[in-house]
Amino acid sequence: MRRQWHELRRTAATTKASTARATVALRLLQHVEGVNDPLSRRFWSRVDRDGPIPLRRPDLGPCWLWTGSLAERDYGRIKVNRRLVPAHRVAYELVVGPIPEGAELDHLCLNHSCVNPTHLEPVTHRENALRADYTLKPFCVHGHEMTPENTYIYRGKRSCRICIRDRLARSRARRQQT
Ligand SMILES: [Zn+2]
Ligand SMILES: [Zn+2]
Repeated sequence: MRRQWHELRRTAATTKASTARATVALRLLQHVEGVNDPLSRRFWSRVDRDGPIPLRRPDLGPCWLWTGSLAERDYGRIKVNRRLVPAHRVAYELVVGPIPEGAELDHLCLNHSCVNPTHLEPVTHRENALRADYTLKPFCVHGHEMTPENTYIYRGKRSCRICIRDRLARSRARRQQT
């Protein structure tokens, strides 16, 4: 049952995103092969495009591993205009375009040293935190999937909405019996 759920969610996400991803993938190849500005040349010479296929999302294709220096939690970094900046953000801006104001780039492949722009999705800080929590603990104690929609957050604590509803229904039923 859980398995089916996962597959359904994955298929839905894939169909929606696949057209956009194909466009990005095409631009990506053109960029890596054809563009010749100094930053692009320096950047892509430090990328190994033969990385592992993400276990959770094999449909995304191989990770592109940053072979330059790494920051904490394995994020790649590169010096641009004398400042060290996260390599995956540079990759995204080189190929896709500016990252929306305030957005974070979520690694769909969960591999922080990956700079493949098709593996990156701009999300809000809140969404990114929810997804990180989901990766650590995808199910509540009763086995309900902790998707962002099913997660209720109060004072930083996450609760399962289905369980909350069940609890309310049970206490209502008890009251009616007495
Ligand atoms: Zn990746
Ligand atoms: Zn639950």
